[in-house]
Amino acid sequence: MAVPQNRVTRSRRNMRRSHDALVASNPAECPNCGELKRPHHVCGACGHYDSREVVATAKEVDLDEDAA
Ligand SMILES: [Zn+2]
Repeated sequence: MAVPQNRVTRSRRNMRRSHDALVASNPAECPNCGELKRPHHVCGACGHYDSREVVATAKEVDLDEDAA
């Protein structure tokens, strides 16, 4: 097993960890449904992107269409 050759001081450890902070996401409102969505991503609630529907949502798909 690898063993550290030198002790890392509190200062160096904390300097290394200064870059470890998590950044909060920056959600934006969907122009179509108003749900919060990630910027530059398809809306997870209504499947719209750039003011048009690109992904059909599960609620809108009619599975009995062919059976009838
Ligand atoms: Zn939406």
